[in-house]
Amino acid sequence: MKIAFTTLGCKLNYAETSTYERGFLAAGWEVVPWTQQADVYLINTCAVTETAEKKSRNLIRRAHKTAPEARIAVTGCYAELRKEQLQTLEGVWKVFGANEKKQIVPETVEGALVPSTNSSKNVDGTTFGAYSSGERTRSFLKVQDGCDNFCAYCTVPFARGRSRNIPVCEAVKQAREIAAQGIKEVVLTGVNTGDFGRTTGERFLDLLKALNEVEGIERYRISSIEPNLITPEIVDWIASGTKFQRHFHIPLQSGSDTLLRRVGRRYDTALFASRIDYIRQAMERPGEPLVFFGIDVIVGLPGETEELFQETYTFLKERIRPAFIHVFPYSRRPGTRAAEWKDQVQDSVKTERVARLEALCEELHSSFVAANKGLREKVLWESSVKNGLMGGYTGNYIRVEQPSDPDKFNTIEDIII
Ligand code: SF4
Repeated sequence: MKIAFTTLGCKLNYAETSTYERGFLAAGWEVVPWTQQADVYLINTCAVTETAEKKSRNLIRRAHKTAPEARIAVTGCYAELRKEQLQTLEGVWKVFGANEKKQIVPETVEGALVPSTNSSKNVDGTTFGAYSSGERTRSFLKVQDGCDNFCAYCTVPFARGRSRNIPVCEAVKQAREIAAQGIKEVVLTGVNTGDFGRTTGERFLDLLKALNEVEGIERYRISSIEPNLITPEIVDWIASGTKFQRHFHIPLQSGSDTLLRRVGRRYDTALFASRIDYIRQAMERPGEPLVFFGIDVIVGLPGETEELFQETYTFLKERIRPAFIHVFPYSRRPGTRAAEWKDQVQDSVKTERVARLEALCEELHSSFVAANKGLREKVLWESSVKNGLMGGYTGNYIRVEQPSDPDKFNTIEDIII
């Protein structure tokens, strides 16, 4: 039997698709490229914006056009939020919701042999460990899923369910599997990664300590962590000399306390700034590389006046000075509290503010790279070559390139930035 995959959205989705792929290969199926004829197409959807939903529907239509007889299985956040709607689309055989992901491989393998029925068995609501294995140098390891925060603009808790996690021992087992494939860097991923331990009673710090001991994995990154969950205790441990890199991706969303309070974020700008300060004090020394902060910001949240936007701009430019700003225009999501608010911001205003923050990001990123020039750091060389150059990221997430040398692929080298 032949199966083809396509994935939209976040690192979590890619880790899950990669895990399904290993399951089908283990069942003796052949994985073929998305554009080729297959018996089954599996689409891992995203619902973070209206555009993502539209792309998901287009992929379903394209699969049906490519192979009208094939069965189309749909999963991911859009599948959880709009199950009935998706089930009516032509060619769709099964829609697997957030709590049915463990069933995807067994039911599809079994289903391929019997006439189709629409219902799938409801399972226990726990999460399953997943990791990506498509790349040689880096793997995304899913350790947590779901979220209990219900920020006013966010559909993720509806799409991925309550906060839950795999046990530390399972994460260690998965990291060992990744190491056995020769992969040297692992990116811990989840929906609210720092909320790890909700369903097992274990601590996020205990997870980090256990993973740090796994032989063969030389570097770890945390894909994203809420500011209120990156505690001084965790920072002190990371700063004590571990495999966790000088790289933190922390969602701010807005630099205005008025908006942070309104959308229900669990911190204010004072706490946010104090965590950044604490990390810098604990991890930056004269003559050593600086810590890379990647900060998420949503532009155009309902009620965001020019004054409130300016608070965000100034907070980033003058107080936090991150290395990178991930800028997202607010997307009105059905079913969220913010979608009902009257004071929505016009798209043209959002577009203009996105452009201003992206320009600031370029400025800050250039000064971050310049501030690290001449310092010693370690780079993990990747195996992809472009224009005769190989590339890689330093521990503090600066992209560097050198003339390609296959002997160095997937090795860690000391360099001067
Ligand atoms: S913490 Fe993140 S995932 Fe959870 S509701 Fe808020 S924005 Fe969504």
